[in-house]
Amino acid sequence: GKIVIAIDGQSGCGKSSTAKAVAKILGYTYLDSGAMYRAVALHHLNHPFELTDQGSVQKALNQVKISFQQNPKTGKQETYLNGQNVEDEIREMKVSQNVSKVAAIREIREAMVAQQRALGEAKGVVMDGRDIGSVVFPNAELKIFMTANLHTRARRRLEELSSMGNVTTLEEIKENLAERDRLDSSREESPLRKMPDAIEVDTSHLQFEDQVNQVVQLARE
Ligand code: C5P
Repeated sequence: GKIVIAIDGQSGCGKSSTAKAVAKILGYTYLDSGAMYRAVALHHLNHPFELTDQGSVQKALNQVKISFQQNPKTGKQETYLNGQNVEDEIREMKVSQNVSKVAAIREIREAMVAQQRALGEAKGVVMDGRDIGSVVFPNAELKIFMTANLHTRARRRLEELSSMGNVTTLEEIKENLAERDRLDSSREESPLRKMPDAIEVDTSHLQFEDQVNQVVQLARE
């Protein structure tokens, strides 16, 4: 039968590309929980609100509608914020540099988790993020904790961003990944951590196909 696959791990370790490929092979739905936090961070950049003030946060959350749509031409899943396609914009460095502080706010997490659970209600879901195995789907049949060393992660991310036409440097990416790891693992609200029942997959020395096959294999067991 179909299951729920939770893939958590540090920034840029290949979670989302792996999750996407696994979903395609298994005929599952892929859900990018990070895209939702990125969309809220983009909203925060465009319409600043006080993160430490509950009322302001609630008001802002009421003004944020996030959805996903498949691009009919490319088949690629794209993120929409209030009806606007923000898929490319949420990957920009300015969003990467602001997302972790936005994602640390409890009310924001509660709203995102509720939506993630609703989206993942049907079985046959691969969701990637930081708290999928711990908070969103603690009963997921398969939990993966993905890692890779910082240099490898930064190098891969640089390739990805450059191919999208984003201008940045290896150093800037390294700094951002390390800073997000620090904030994401030290925050009070659902910090990133490896669950006892998660299987660790270190992709530092793995070819992409191999890391995808490992997860597919585990899902079929
Ligand atoms: O997965 P991605 O790197 O796009 O996520 C961007 C940021 O969103 C993370 O650095 C983290 O701060 C936040 N996030 C989170 N919980 C998730 C997914 C992402 O806090 N489940």
